[in-house]
Amino acid sequence: MSNFTLHNIPFGIFSIKNGKKRLATIINDQVVDLYALAEFGYFDDLKIKKTVFKNDYLNDFISLGKEKTNAVRRRLQEILADDKNIHHSSFTIHHSKVNLHLPVKIGDYTDFYSSEQHATNVGMMFRPNGDALLPNWKHIPVGYHGRASSIFVSGQNFHRPKGQINATDATPPTFSATKRLDIELEMATIIGQPNLIGDSIDVNKAEEYVFGFTLFNDWSARDIQRWEYVPLGPFLAKNFFSSMSPWVVTLEALEPFRVAAEVQDPEVLPYLKEEKRQHFDVQLEVILQLPNSEGVKICTSNFKNMYWTVAQQIAHHTVNGCNLNIGDVMASGTISGKTPDSFGSLLELTWGGKNPITLPDGSTRTFLEDGDTIMIKGFAEKNGLRVDFGEVRTMVLPAK
Ligand code: CA
Repeated sequence: MSNFTLHNIPFGIFSIKNGKKRLATIINDQVVDLYALAEFGYFDDLKIKKTVFKNDYLNDFISLGKEKTNAVRRRLQEILADDKNIHHSSFTIHHSKVNLHLPVKIGDYTDFYSSEQHATNVGMMFRPNGDALLPNWKHIPVGYHGRASSIFVSGQNFHRPKGQINATDATPPTFSATKRLDIELEMATIIGQPNLIGDSIDVNKAEEYVFGFTLFNDWSARDIQRWEYVPLGPFLAKNFFSSMSPWVVTLEALEPFRVAAEVQDPEVLPYLKEEKRQHFDVQLEVILQLPNSEGVKICTSNFKNMYWTVAQQIAHHTVNGCNLNIGDVMASGTISGKTPDSFGSLLELTWGGKNPITLPDGSTRTFLEDGDTIMIKGFAEKNGLRVDFGEVRTMVLPAK
């Protein structure tokens, strides 16, 4: 059960039946209609147009800037702390009665590869005769440009993708549905401020460009990936579907959960050197649910299991002058910890399919079967303060 607190106040987009989409936050199990609050005049003194809150996406709201969006968050905390508020029943709706939508219009999507353990594990499996980490990995926050059109919100399911599989150096590929459908446990950074083309973002100011974060599942077809990824990296193994959670948790809500990031060795180039290296302590879990069964936790990890910080990812992304836009998504890369139960993909959890996972009912999994559901959940908790990310839930449908 998600536990959305007064401290959290994440932002999202909801609708009821065929109604227009509106901005929302959530407290406990109640979705809060921000357009209704705007109509009651609760944001009048903040000088924000009411239409910003009746919108298909958060982008217009985010573009108001942190000063205003933080003021809205604080105002919501005041309103929701007052349980005698006479309008309360007019702006809250039980979460079971609403549809939640993709929170941002995503112009561009970049996926990083920033967990050392994940990169090491994959390197060992994909290049058994070479070094696990390529020589560039500790100098560059490696990433690739992904596909924005196929990112969907939690609850949207997809059909098993087809492609070229079963190829080796000696034998040509065959065409079929993927037999190695996998997940990647990731977090998504939602960009909150643009930079001009040609301008680089200073690593020590990079967090000013972050609006917030969601959970992210970078669905992957390992057999397609193995054949296509050299020389230009992921393509059809990734672009068939990605899933994100509906609530964007703000950077400000995560302030109490900062933790020091590890010292990097070798030393990075000056443009990646941070005055203060920090991650966010967000506990993450992956749950596998077979049809007509209870879910089983298959991985426990943490957003802090990263070699490169979000700030370094942004600084590197823009060091050549590449421009970011509001609503761009930067996924962290698979977040694997050091212990086998913290590996963020089935590829790693089953070590390339060699060690199947045995579930409580005796069934086993290497990669996913049709009808399987994956849930990623995340939350930060410390000294009685809790920030929940909710979940991203997706079911695998048979190939079309
Ligand atoms: Ca990924």
